[in-house]
Amino acid sequence: MTTPRLEIRNLRKAFAGREVVSDVSLSVLPGQVTCLLGPSGCGKSTTLRIIAGVESQDSGSIHVDGQLVCDGLVSIPPESRSIGLMFQDFALFPHLSVTQNVAFGLHGAKKANTDRVSELLAKVGMSRHADAYPHELSGGEQQRVALARALAPKPRIMLMDEPFSGLDDRLRDDIRDETLEVLKEEGTAVLLVTHEPGEAMRMADEIALMRGGVVVQRGAPYNIYNAPADREAAGFFSDIN
Ligand code: ADP
Ligand code: MG
Repeated sequence: MTTPRLEIRNLRKAFAGREVVSDVSLSVLPGQVTCLLGPSGCGKSTTLRIIAGVESQDSGSIHVDGQLVCDGLVSIPPESRSIGLMFQDFALFPHLSVTQNVAFGLHGAKKANTDRVSELLAKVGMSRHADAYPHELSGGEQQRVALARALAPKPRIMLMDEPFSGLDDRLRDDIRDETLEVLKEEGTAVLLVTHEPGEAMRMADEIALMRGGVVVQRGAPYNIYNAPADREAAGFFSDIN
């Protein structure tokens, strides 16, 4: 069997005695997109912050490529997890050009970095804006640069938290499709958080359906849509847009 890029088992987290994440298990296979889907407030962002290592869990384990990242005893620091992040409010650096933004997380040989930045700007269709500054770009263009920046260090797993929610309705579908295309081309495994069933249906290879701190169902979008675990899950999918 393939070793998952990311494997979460029985994650649990309480804030001041109130359990926010009660039982989250999910996995992301190499080159695939898993969507963590659930209504607002169900604990999705908390789960992602724990995986990123900026929040600690009370119990449960996280493995990346079969290696233990944290389990309540062991905890590898965030910068050593080889995890890429793309959050809605994770803005570009305003004082850096597009090229400098994408190169920001890269270390090592200058030539290799320059090549990597060029390659990514081409992939996201932003080559001719290489010297522009964020304020000179549209929302969609900034989004493309943010994707290139997150992908630049070739993270083993990319975490995306509602990355499209700041975009115009008109733009959103196109950017989703473009993003998916780039992610597939790069072969990056992704855990994408969303509260929109339509987005999960469009983007996911696998969905982990979450409610009240618990992953209640996991499976291919088609299977979950056609055979929801219970009435509440069915209701959640009924208002797909
Ligand atoms: P989602 O991303 O699914 O909307 P969140 O993970 O952001 O949900 O939040 C789940 C619940 O946890 C919310 O009720 C939120 O208020 C609470 N919460 C999140 N972070 C903290 C924190 N640092 N301290 C206390 N409560 C928190
Ligand atoms: Mg959230």
